[in-house]
Amino acid sequence: MCGIVAYVGHREASSIIVNGLRRLEYRGYDSAGLSLIHDEKINIFKKEGKVSELESILSGDALRSNTGIGHTRWATHGEPSDKNAHPHSSASGKISLVHNGIIENYSALKQELSGKGYEFYSDTDTEVLVNLIEDIQKQDDCSLPEAVRRALNAVVGAYAIVAMSADRPDQLVAARKGSPLVVGVGDGEFFFASDATPIVEYTKEVVYLNDFEIAVIAEGNLAM
Ligand code: GLU
Repeated sequence: MCGIVAYVGHREASSIIVNGLRRLEYRGYDSAGLSLIHDEKINIFKKEGKVSELESILSGDALRSNTGIGHTRWATHGEPSDKNAHPHSSASGKISLVHNGIIENYSALKQELSGKGYEFYSDTDTEVLVNLIEDIQKQDDCSLPEAVRRALNAVVGAYAIVAMSADRPDQLVAARKGSPLVVGVGDGEFFFASDATPIVEYTKEVVYLNDFEIAVIAEGNLAM
């Protein structure tokens, strides 16, 4: 078990995410990270160890962001390390993904993507999934939510994920199967988290995602 916290709205995403990850610490983890969109660029901070260590490396203009995704990892594919910590990026650096769970067929998918020229910088199944999403988006010329839906159709395993794209700071895409994920709906702001504890101080409106459901936040609206 481990945790996800994501935010899009009008507040500083990094502090909401770090506070939220702290509230999920009881679930156990070996590393922590977050990515933030600033000026149509994704900036990633991640570190093996405690959320407090992640917090100590957060600095710069990148923190002036209202959109971000965060993660505490319990390693299943690859040792606990900075490079295996989440979020993971697609080859272009445009898509960022956090994932709890296991992609059982990651090895076959990785081989297929390697054959197309994709390179991998971590040992995780998650990095395979984020590149699969990018590959589908490029090949099918579709939106991020549609690419996530198509990629998950090719995946065997359990997951809770949240993805975002550098050029859409208003958008978060989340999905689950077998791992928990909830959505918090606030006043012009939205939260995702593994359970409601990081969200309840901001809003009472919490929606539980069902298996195979995809939730998309875009232009201030939630669609499921
Ligand atoms: N399978 C992924 C990894 O090893 C996610 C593990 C988790 O649930 O934190 O990085």
